[in-house]
Amino acid sequence: QAKEAGRDTLSFFDPGMQAALVSRARLEKDLRQALANDEWRLLYQPQVDNESHVTGVEALLRWHHPERGIVSPGDFIPLLESTRLINIVGAWVLETACKQLVEWQHCPDTAHLTVAVNISPVQFREDNFVPKVKSILRRTGAPADKLKLEVTETLFVEAQDDTQRKMEHLRAQGIHFSLDDFGTGYSSLAYLAHLPLDQLKIDQSFVRQVLDSPANAAIVESTIALARSLGLSVIAEGVETKAHQDWLARHACHAFQGFLFGRPMAVKEVEAML
Ligand code: C2E
Ligand code: MG
Ligand code: MG
Ligand code: MG
Repeated sequence: QAKEAGRDTLSFFDPGMQAALVSRARLEKDLRQALANDEWRLLYQPQVDNESHVTGVEALLRWHHPERGIVSPGDFIPLLESTRLINIVGAWVLETACKQLVEWQHCPDTAHLTVAVNISPVQFREDNFVPKVKSILRRTGAPADKLKLEVTETLFVEAQDDTQRKMEHLRAQGIHFSLDDFGTGYSSLAYLAHLPLDQLKIDQSFVRQVLDSPANAAIVESTIALARSLGLSVIAEGVETKAHQDWLARHACHAFQGFLFGRPMAVKEVEAML
């Protein structure tokens, strides 16, 4: 009878919802095969200083699906997280980025570059996250001080002791931490006093509106001031126009990332920019 009821409830599903479940299942199956099929790619988006010199890049993941084409992270990261596949794919991302760092070490034009890697909270929370990162560094021989991990405020809401312990371990290896999407989370600012952060990354939603919205401008100005008084560097993401860059530079933000300087691109294109 329970089975009957189950069957009946199924018929209450609207067809759109069923289709979504089926396509989610298919997506998950495809995601499980993506690594073996060599469908992951990393693109690198330049980060520049005041003089538009490229100081580093952010690694951004793309999925080259045989039928769907290039899929953006917004469409698969949540599913990777809910299935914990993010731990496998995230390790691939770190290893690939570290190998790239090693490649770039060999050439004087690229030896200064840093590589920023996005770390999902699910991945960071994994018990063996720290040893995993250490072993990737050891295996690849990548210089830890050129590696930047981008974390989000989510990590500071819960299990702060675990977060702090892990960050301190990795910081001791030389790894730097950038706080991505700063100002969009729900955490307090108390963590800024004791976590080993190196950089605040101003979220593009604030950057986009600095010219039109005085309130947004005030938030960005305060963020820059906060970073400076804490001895952190600050970078603006989503910088699309010269006018935005000029405004940011006038307000003492000297590092930028955005389409104005370059989209996420292949290694060869990064090298051509230098
Ligand atoms: P994010 O880390 O905040 O990355 C910035 C996003 O903004 C990227 O989108 C980038 O392509 C886009 N962007 C950069 N400059 C501009 C600009 O000037 N204008 C506009 N409109 N957009 C710009 P993308 O590559 O689609 O990545 C989206 C998010 O997916 C990332 O946000 C990050 O949270 C996540 N992500 C990407 N790669 C990885 C990864 O390897 N691991 C994990 N865990 N997450 C990743
Ligand atoms: Mg990021
Ligand atoms: Mg961001
Ligand atoms: Mg963002």
